[in-house]
Amino acid sequence: MREVSTELVTRTVRDLCLEANYRLPPDVERALAEARTRETSPAGRDILDVICENARIARDEEVPLCQDTGFTVVWAAVGREVHFDGDFKAAVDEGVRQGYREGYLRKSIVEDPFRRKNTGDNTPAAIHFMLVEGDRVDLLIEPKGGGCENMSRIAMLKPADGVEGAREFILRTIDEAGPNPCPPTIVGVGVGGTFELAALLAKHATVRPVGEYHPDPFYAELERNCLEEINQLGIGPQGLGGRTTALWLAIETHPCHIASLPVAVNVQCHSARWKRAVI
Ligand code: SF4
Repeated sequence: MREVSTELVTRTVRDLCLEANYRLPPDVERALAEARTRETSPAGRDILDVICENARIARDEEVPLCQDTGFTVVWAAVGREVHFDGDFKAAVDEGVRQGYREGYLRKSIVEDPFRRKNTGDNTPAAIHFMLVEGDRVDLLIEPKGGGCENMSRIAMLKPADGVEGAREFILRTIDEAGPNPCPPTIVGVGVGGTFELAALLAKHATVRPVGEYHPDPFYAELERNCLEEINQLGIGPQGLGGRTTALWLAIETHPCHIASLPVAVNVQCHSARWKRAVI
């Protein structure tokens, strides 16, 4: 067993919260710059220029990329040879608390969905825990904005709906979202599993690096086709028209029940922030 201190977990989460909110992942920044060269709409080009400039300022001056600094989603892959010297979840929340306080990041979490009193420190985080081989702790922090999260959808399709039904649902979700998720977006799609697993797959797909297609050529082609069709919708950057509605679309799949075909779409905005560290 390898002993991992919860203090180190807290420090790492704190740093990741700050880094993720200040710096777009390089693949996302590259995709935005490339989209700028392809965009044909003058308004779309202007918006992409502003988004790229905003990313540069946030990085250089260490200020948040967006006023909405998100729900702190934590993907934690923990090696089965790891032993924590304390409460892992409490350590993650303490890291979020410190990061959001020290970085003056907006506190966006309410302690009850109906009574809506702000928790004041952006906790609790949404922690997705995975047990893996080895003695390392892989932490990925994804601050998830409310505007794009609200445009996410799930459908329990019939198996007979097949690829065509899934494709139509993905397209309809993005079309109906229009300008609301702050396009250009990254579209995460989860297909299969159960109701909740499909949603989790879709969220996880949003942190796959831009340009990294699904290893199965069948799904890689579906990713290409769906992205192309989304970009023909004409929604464009911030919904002002153009060919850049989504920068990227990634699909994750899981075996499913003979009677089911769950399809979930998790929309990530242009402020597609995440940062990862292994301890
Ligand atoms: S959806 Fe994204 S870009 Fe839009 S306000 Fe929320 S965090 Fe910011």
